[in-house]
Amino acid sequence: MRLSKFKYLFQNRALVLMYHRINSPLTDPWNLSVSPENFEAQLQFLTKHYSIVSIHELTRQINSGKIQNRSVALTFDDGYLDNFTTAKPLLEKYSVPATFFITDSYLGGQPFWWDELEAIIVHTDKLPSVFSVSFRNETIVFGLEGEEVLNEEIRLNQVNYSVNRPPTLRTQLYIKLWKLLSPLQKDDQMEFLKLVRDWAGISENQTQVEGTMTVQQLKQLSDNPLFTIGGHTSTHPSLSDHPATIQKNEIADNKEALEKLISDRILYFAYPSGRYNKTTIKTLKNRSFSAAFTTNSGFAGKSTDKYTVPRVQVCNWDVNKLQKKVQAWFRM
Ligand SMILES: [Zn+2]
Repeated sequence: MRLSKFKYLFQNRALVLMYHRINSPLTDPWNLSVSPENFEAQLQFLTKHYSIVSIHELTRQINSGKIQNRSVALTFDDGYLDNFTTAKPLLEKYSVPATFFITDSYLGGQPFWWDELEAIIVHTDKLPSVFSVSFRNETIVFGLEGEEVLNEEIRLNQVNYSVNRPPTLRTQLYIKLWKLLSPLQKDDQMEFLKLVRDWAGISENQTQVEGTMTVQQLKQLSDNPLFTIGGHTSTHPSLSDHPATIQKNEIADNKEALEKLISDRILYFAYPSGRYNKTTIKTLKNRSFSAAFTTNSGFAGKSTDKYTVPRVQVCNWDVNKLQKKVQAWFRM
């Protein structure tokens, strides 16, 4: 073994954990939800065996090149309502610091486009037998014959589906439309959603998808010194799919809006869907962000670049599974 490799293996490591939701939705194709029970058990395990640090402390360690081994920082992306109603009280119970990256234009209960799209396509009781929507000179057609009515068999078949292996026509259509909408801007995503609702014959508030926390709840969250609010753009675009002007506006408007809401500086950022390029990093530096977090799996060490800090995604695991994962991550 070469000495450099040897040194690399034994350098101090910190982990940044990435959470999205503390909830148990009907389906979770990206594995973004942890049940409240598992989350509490995870907090008990982490506080017992690791040193949980704030994002300021983690960034300080990265800046100084002196990582305190077995440091762990917790982050939550998007700003879901359950972050306030479920994660906050549990984090407070165990005095665990955490950072919440917020997409401000959705604040106030609005469901994210991907959740509403899924509710319509995957979970609506009855759909027409052919999906057909015309959008921007293109007509998307997809047959749903045999799955018009969401019966028990289909429901069971897709209950644990993952994005890589959609088992039903409904889940296949959802993933197809997700890919189509993902690189678009919010106005276009909303326009497309309206066309999908019209096709399905349902009204705007009929899907009852849980959305984001309110502005008041965000303020309450930020009032607790345990918690830090970070930027996650105005509308959650896939930043690297967009030109510099859009990227700058998304980052700057989000920072400004959040700073006004919580009367504090926004210094940290998480890339929506983990998508970024050189322009994104340059914009963050120009806007005086202190650090930015990716969805690239890995640990933070002394050579970690503070604008591309890796994170590891925590899934709905019990303590045994989490323990195995955390041990493996520290050995990566
Ligand atoms: Zn996000």
